[in-house]
Amino acid sequence: MANTELHQLSIRELKDGLASKKFSSVELTEHHLDRIDRLDSEVNSFITVTADMAMDAAKQADSELANSDTEAKPLLGIPMAHKDLFCTEGVLTTSGSKILYNFVSPYDATVVANIKNAGAICLGKLNMDEFAMGSDNESSHYGAVHNPWDLHRVPGGSSGGSAAAVAAGFVPFATGSDTGGSIRQPASFCGLTGIKPTYGRVSRFGMIAYASSLDQAGTFGRSAEDCAYLLQQMAGYDPKDATSIKRDVPDYVADMNTAVQNSTDVKPFAGLKIGVAKEYFGKGLDKAVEDKVRSALKQYEDLGATIVDVNITNPEITLATYYMLAPAEASSNLSRFDGVRFGYRCDDPKDLHDLYTRSRSEGFGDEVKRRILMGTYALSAGYFDAYYTKAQKVRRVILQDFARAFEQCDVIASPTAPTPAYKLGEDLDPVSMYLGDVYTIAVNLAGLPAISMPAGLTADGLPVGLQLIGNHWDDGKLLTTAHLYQQHTEHHKATSGMMGR
Ligand code: GLN
Repeated sequence: MANTELHQLSIRELKDGLASKKFSSVELTEHHLDRIDRLDSEVNSFITVTADMAMDAAKQADSELANSDTEAKPLLGIPMAHKDLFCTEGVLTTSGSKILYNFVSPYDATVVANIKNAGAICLGKLNMDEFAMGSDNESSHYGAVHNPWDLHRVPGGSSGGSAAAVAAGFVPFATGSDTGGSIRQPASFCGLTGIKPTYGRVSRFGMIAYASSLDQAGTFGRSAEDCAYLLQQMAGYDPKDATSIKRDVPDYVADMNTAVQNSTDVKPFAGLKIGVAKEYFGKGLDKAVEDKVRSALKQYEDLGATIVDVNITNPEITLATYYMLAPAEASSNLSRFDGVRFGYRCDDPKDLHDLYTRSRSEGFGDEVKRRILMGTYALSAGYFDAYYTKAQKVRRVILQDFARAFEQCDVIASPTAPTPAYKLGEDLDPVSMYLGDVYTIAVNLAGLPAISMPAGLTADGLPVGLQLIGNHWDDGKLLTTAHLYQQHTEHHKATSGMMGR
């Protein structure tokens, strides 16, 4: 096989190729590292490349592939990379912030350990908005990330590095985290499939917290099947995370294959009810995005699905609720970065107060400071009930509205984001940026799973994402619903120009 093709293979093809010795893990790893070396100066998707560690792991994988039973290691020899908020033992872990510019984690996050145990080769750590706060990856201390479809545009955020690295063919798949859309929106901007699982499905241990009641780890891939392979290794109960849930993990890949076998070619979605809420097609939605999403829904209908009208909570209310609760949790989570225990410390502090104040003022960027201020305000005596408690009550209503909607349908469809990728440096004011999260945040407030998948390109050649929201624990149903669609359509096969270089 010509080496130029190695980065275009699916996970299934990579597994087959390694097992049948068409190529080795060393070749595969070298090929991807070479691409990063050659092209990432244009994308800036990696904060740290762990080339030596990766080559050592690849050699080890090759010897295991040759000598032992590899069933226990389903990702043996396959390259990947982690968003830089997953702690990685012995490797710099910055969360996109100056305040962690020198933090080498002494331990692995559970997600990292699980993926390592499955035999995957980690090529490094991916750029992101500082502490996962943002939607365009422009708040990273390590520089903006460029979208491989158009280098003048943002890749989305906060997992912008993860999305860009997969879309550029630097890794076949990658981890991300999603607190209010940070997997789905960059997947949409970069023409990928990305899933945010049910809250509690994946351990948060060792994942640097933004808003703990909303954060959930998930995956980016070039297809739903590739995402399923990675999620399979991440999901499961972890005694180290009190919010992770004891519940069997289905065999996502096997289940999607069974669904394909059992489906008819003409009407694979017979019996599937897709809820469409007018609230998700309201003002602010770009016309080109709406057209693509509606035509994807028409394809689902042509393939047998039924569309039903449902109602969900007014997105403006959801947005206000999220931007009250997420900063409140962030202000509390980020208090540990104080210049004393680890991370950045200011020069020559006068006294303890000066040390705290200057370390934090110099170490955090503007967006993070804005969230800490908003969150602290919402939590302060006198405002707590009016803002924080009120927002918690609205959160309950959002959950109830979804529960009612799911009485009428199996999944709810919407655009993932109201626009395609916008220009770098467009300098959106914060509120306009927050408005871009309008279709993704309710899912996190309700703890639901949701997937974004490619739904075609705009006239300018920019990817558009279709979001499907599932009921709690329907992660597998979402993957299968996306996979079946991808068996009958071509949108997910469109790749960025950079894939051809
Ligand atoms: N854009 C949203 C925010 O800035 C979501 C971020 C995320 O999911 N981490 O809060």
